Amino acid sequence: MSRSTSLAIPNADALYERALSCLPGGNSRSTLFVPPHPPYAARGEGALLTDVDGHELIDLQNNYTSLVHGHAFKPAIEAAAVAMQAGPSVGLPTQSEIELAELLAQRMPWAPSWRFANSGTEAVMIALRGARAATGRDGFLRFAGCYHGTYDAVVQEGARGVPAAAHQDVVSVPVGDSEAFTRALEEHGESLAAVLLDILPNRAGLRPPDPDFILTVREQTRRRGILLIVDEVITFRLATGGLQQEYGVEADLVTLGKLIGGGFPVGALGGSAAVMDVFDPHLDDAVGHGGTFSANPVTMSAGLASLRALDEGAIERINRLGDRLRQELASQGHAVSGRGSLLRLHPADPTRLWWELYEQGVLISANGLACMSTPMDDSTVERALAAFARVARDASPAPEPKAKDAHV
Ligand code: PMP
Repeated sequence: MSRSTSLAIPNADALYERALSCLPGGNSRSTLFVPPHPPYAARGEGALLTDVDGHELIDLQNNYTSLVHGHAFKPAIEAAAVAMQAGPSVGLPTQSEIELAELLAQRMPWAPSWRFANSGTEAVMIALRGARAATGRDGFLRFAGCYHGTYDAVVQEGARGVPAAAHQDVVSVPVGDSEAFTRALEEHGESLAAVLLDILPNRAGLRPPDPDFILTVREQTRRRGILLIVDEVITFRLATGGLQQEYGVEADLVTLGKLIGGGFPVGALGGSAAVMDVFDPHLDDAVGHGGTFSANPVTMSAGLASLRALDEGAIERINRLGDRLRQELASQGHAVSGRGSLLRLHPADPTRLWWELYEQGVLISANGLACMSTPMDDSTVERALAAFARVARDASPAPEPKAKDAHV
């Protein structure tokens, strides 16, 4: 398949040819694939990314929303460098994980207890295991079309390589459908350990839900002794206490990732001591959770620096920039959804839009997800808008996501 623009990327083409002999598809992340192949990055600084062919882009992708302070955020890099000098990983716990857990507990006072992992995928996997252990039930309910990482039980049913048995205790309900949700709880409630909810699910369209739906999920799970796991791997950037704070709900367990690692691999789960204590190794039947690199001091230190800098003022500022970009893109005729600093474009031809924007100097995610970062300001928004104005508008409804999109 050819690129939808005449953009020349000879250095990336050469790297791709070389990669094909050792990396199926040319790299390790299905989520980065754009046909015929994506360009390769060289370096980033603040809001800007430069590729190996010297193109400079405004980065609205920010490693799938994780780089909330843009590229090479100095406080995080410096904190990581200090931690690296002392040894990047070690077979004893360090103070850095206590500090990050304390800060997270401050931001979400209902979740005083934490565990760290290496990715959002792991956080969701361990949270489900913890919920099953705490309730003594095996089932969980999820919302169709939402992405929670690549753990077998949460990927789309029928995904290649995933055994059907992985879904035998999983109940799936359409996003936002209170009636279907209530019916499913009436039918399966007694066997459910947890409901897994992303309040603003990217893959399901990044459309803000009816607040009543979220309240219904909270009330009904509480009433039936089912634990509510809110996946804030993407949405935690929207408010100091995560998107739950804005909807007035408190989960039993929350999963985090992305920005809390300051650019390094991370996952976390938090909740009340009553639930999280299942991981306490003092117990004879404690739930096992290790991870050679879980809570490594480099990630913890960079994450701490990143989170400290993401205070209420910073969050409000990038949310306002995102609101402005979304409103003005809609008036340009682009189909766009989202909330605050998170946006999603809905073009009929995502690949074409991706390449056209790339040529105009703007990077978004292959599935249309975009976000703001703290080094951006109104002039960044204006430059991005000028780039968008030069590409073909196509506001017709997006086609249903393909199975491959399950990995995005
Ligand atoms: N949950 C959500 C809501 C996500 O968006 C993602 C990743 N985009 C994950 C979990 C998995 O996180 P990771 O890629 O770090 O495994």
